[in-house]
Amino acid sequence: MTAPATDETELAQYQLYIDGAFCEAESGARFNSVNPATGLAWASAPAAGEADVDRAVGAAGRALNEGEWPAMSATQRGKLLFGLAELVAKNAETLGRIETTDSGKLAAETKAQTAYVGDYYRYYGGLADKIQGATLPIDKPDMHVFTTREPIGVVAAIVPWNAQMFLSATKVGPALAAGNTVVVKASEEAPAPLLEFAKLVDQAGFPPGVLNVITGFGEPCGRALTSHRGVARVAFTGGPETARHVVRNTANNFASVSLELGGKSAILVFDDADLEGALNGAIAGNFGATGQSCVAGSRVFVQAGIHDRFIERLVERAEAIRIGDPLDPSTQMGPLATEAQRDRIESVIGESTAHGATVLTGGGRPPGLDEGWYFQPTVLGCPNQDVPSTRVEMFGPVMSVLKFDTEEAGVGLANDSEFGLAAGVFTSDVARAHRVAKAVRAGIVWVNTYRAISPISPFGGFGQSGYGREAGIDAMYDYTRTKAVWVNTSSEPMANPFVMR
Ligand code: NAD
Repeated sequence: MTAPATDETELAQYQLYIDGAFCEAESGARFNSVNPATGLAWASAPAAGEADVDRAVGAAGRALNEGEWPAMSATQRGKLLFGLAELVAKNAETLGRIETTDSGKLAAETKAQTAYVGDYYRYYGGLADKIQGATLPIDKPDMHVFTTREPIGVVAAIVPWNAQMFLSATKVGPALAAGNTVVVKASEEAPAPLLEFAKLVDQAGFPPGVLNVITGFGEPCGRALTSHRGVARVAFTGGPETARHVVRNTANNFASVSLELGGKSAILVFDDADLEGALNGAIAGNFGATGQSCVAGSRVFVQAGIHDRFIERLVERAEAIRIGDPLDPSTQMGPLATEAQRDRIESVIGESTAHGATVLTGGGRPPGLDEGWYFQPTVLGCPNQDVPSTRVEMFGPVMSVLKFDTEEAGVGLANDSEFGLAAGVFTSDVARAHRVAKAVRAGIVWVNTYRAISPISPFGGFGQSGYGREAGIDAMYDYTRTKAVWVNTSSEPMANPFVMR
């Protein structure tokens, strides 16, 4: 399953999962997935087209309205999610290895993250029977008015390649807990993990059609899914340009939308910060997952008093990172996911040096790693935020470092961005930590830590980082719609509407 192959017959073969059955795309079309560590194809998946999207949404629509699923109690739905949680955690090693082979992310990280994905399903399984309506103190006599929360309908969940198991769980978990049915579209860059996950869904005992997994390209598969009239909600994670297509597509079905997009998040390091702790934050925020993280803290602002020491240690630490095979447990940073991504990063670095940035370390391909899409941990010293690397989401191991003097100036620099996903604050002054956490414009603020996540804590941004929140209790309510029920409690029949009293 994991060995890369150039011979088509040796490729791991995956199938779509629609209506409780594994199947090919109607056209028979397939595409190969490349292992970023070798640059060679290793797996093959069906390229779903409009007809397959139609089949998947049709199956999800039937499962929503007919048969076992709508008749099930919320507690039973929760138990099915608990079962799925256990299967995911039990198979974390296999799923993690497949995700690593498909995306280049470190095996240590994909295994741990997948095991933790089980907790997301467990969290939402527990919430399934805690969705409540309200009784309203209505301003009319003899009326009992209450609200219920109903499932919203068929949910289209669209994910990018960088954390398929995790990013699908933050959508599938709340959607199923609230009684919806789902069609997940995996990324064409890494289709295998979710098609492998579909095998666990099959074992978990969900009624057919409740959870469908398809793979295909943005055009036609993503477009057909997000514009399909049978879809009531689109939960999208990806880049801002794709998100603009998605929002336009939903003009066709008026689906409600959540958008988890990229970022250009700021890490503020104050003079009074613990130096090693702040370095760990900057490194986790930029070189963890080879920087291919939406919450990458890729603008690092360092106060003047600590700046030079910070840079010196940062360069030492970056140069000590072990780059290599992501399946090797001793590797600290794997390759980028695609060749195109590496080309784009190289070009932004070139434009940035032309705008006055200095390459303090890295900036190129690591010597001796000629196969695969490897790139060095890179630190750019930037004079200002006219430098392209401070504006463009790199989605790679490239951080831009800038110096600031006062707290106010640091916050001003951090807030000078179109994005609003995350921020980090490193300081030993509690009052400053709270002041800055309040002043920075971001959906998530980490103080003296970075890149920590939990099913219990809301996740999401604003501006060019999108809208809506994933994880936490409120996210589940986004997968419900409210119904108001009016009951006339008078002993008299309803009055004649044409007789005024
Ligand atoms: P992408 O936007 O290219 O693709 C994301 C998904 O959208 C893929 O499944 C793709 O097939 C699909 N798609 C493409 N065109 C479509 C269309 N017209 N209609 C519907 N779907 C379509 O993103 P990517 O390059 O795979 O991933 C990187 C991006 O994802 C980065 O910008 C990153 O910041 C973002 N991201 C955000 C978060 C977050 O939670 N905020 C998390 C991870 C990644």
